Order: sequence, then C-alpha cells, then structure tokens
Amino acid sequence: MTRTPIIAGNWKMFKTVSEATAFVNEIKGGAEVAGVESVVCAPYTCLPALVEAVKGTSIKVGAQNMHWEENGAFTGEISGLMLQDLGVHYVIIGHSERRAYYAETDETVNKKVHAAFKYGVTPIVCVGEKLEEREAGQTKDVCKVQTEAAFAGLSAELAKQVVVAYEPIWAIGTGKSSTAADAQDVIGYIRSLIAALYDSSVADAVRIQYGGSVKPNNVTEYMGEQDIDGALVGGASLEPASYIALVQGA
Ligand code: PGA
Repeated sequence: MTRTPIIAGNWKMFKTVSEATAFVNEIKGGAEVAGVESVVCAPYTCLPALVEAVKGTSIKVGAQNMHWEENGAFTGEISGLMLQDLGVHYVIIGHSERRAYYAETDETVNKKVHAAFKYGVTPIVCVGEKLEEREAGQTKDVCKVQTEAAFAGLSAELAKQVVVAYEPIWAIGTGKSSTAADAQDVIGYIRSLIAALYDSSVADAVRIQYGGSVKPNNVTEYMGEQDIDGALVGGASLEPASYIALVQGA
C-alpha cells in the first residue's frame, strides 16, 4: 500500500487575508511536488480568499476547527456545511490547543469527525500526550483512548480517509521534537490500533502525520520512517520559503 504523504501547515491565529494570499502566490510551484499533498490550514477569515488563490494549483485549503451541528444557536461557531460551501478540503479536529483551551473532548472530536465527512470535508484528527503523561509512561494509553474515540462509529470506507496527526503536546511550539524513532514507535502503534478496530487494509490506507516542532531540517528524518506519512506543522509553516522546504523535504 502506498500512501500519499501529506504536509499540512497549521497557521493557528496568524495571517490576515492579504498576507494569506501573498503566501499562496509565493509557494505556487515550489510547494507543488508530485506525489506529495500540500495543505494550508488557515483562520476562517482567510478561507474564501485562499480557496480562490489556490485555484489551478495542487495546493489544498483546510480549516482549523468546526462545529458538529449544521447550524443553530452556537454564537461564534462555523459548521461543516459552511466549510463545504466555501470549497475547503480539510479540517483539523481536536488540536491539543483546542482540547486545552476550548474544552474539546474525545466526544466532541468524534462528533466533529462524523460531521466533517457528512459535508465532504476530510478530518485531520490530532492525538497526543502531555509531558507528564509521557513521563509516567502513558503515551500509548493516551493515544489509544483518543484514537478509538475519534474513530468511534465510522465505517471502514470513511475510516480509510481520516488523516491522523500524532502530536506530542510537549513538542508543540517548543523546539523539542520527538525523535523520528520515538514518533515511529507511537505512530506504528496507532496504526495497529486502527487495524484492531477495522482490519489491515484500513490501517494501511490511513495516513498518519507527526507534528511538533517539525522544521525543514528534520522533516526528511520523519518521512524516512515507515509509518510516518507527513507532518502537521505550526511555526515552520508560516514563512513561504520554509513551507516550500517542508513540502520538498517530504
Ligand atoms: P509546531 O506546531 O510545528 O509549531 O510545533 C505544530 C502544531 O501545533 O500543529
């Protein structure tokens, strides 16, 4: 089974609309590498302009969150229907910052995964342990609970399309990345969990990224591991040259 590597930039709360479109104009060509999927996950405000800006390129656009309901009295929220309406391809779900600051739970992650598929948006589901959990030897237990919850109730056909991002929380934005071997160990384990939930054909199809202080100078190391299919990148995805180097390094 060959899986297409996927590099996704997670801009978090950075970039105005004009900065976002300028970014895309600079990465066109450079960040379009045959056999690598290139995705920019931007603030909601940038999405319409980005969808327009990437037309005619192979670059795809993602959101960073969504609500699970189609519409309703949820002040400040954006639904999967709204993302679909814009032409957004991906949505990050369950990022550790949303789990930590915005009360995202395993249950809401699962609801959002189902809702994303309902509206034709592919979820990039984040899982990963806190520093104290790693130190207590609980990394795999935490990833098991989060992964099983995220996939709950999904058909095999949909499960195959999920992108999982394994992001150890202590590695996010800290410059302290996991070693490629440690990331492979956990990501291989996550793949085995998916095989146990479904079967090996589903597990072989699911793409699993590593995230946490990925930079142009370490991305290739991760990509060399058999179960690592790309990266979810925060800080190093904000500069065009760095983003291009990440895609080319994959
Ligand atoms: P980082 O962030 O690359 O800045 O560590 C990764 C993420 O939060 O997805």
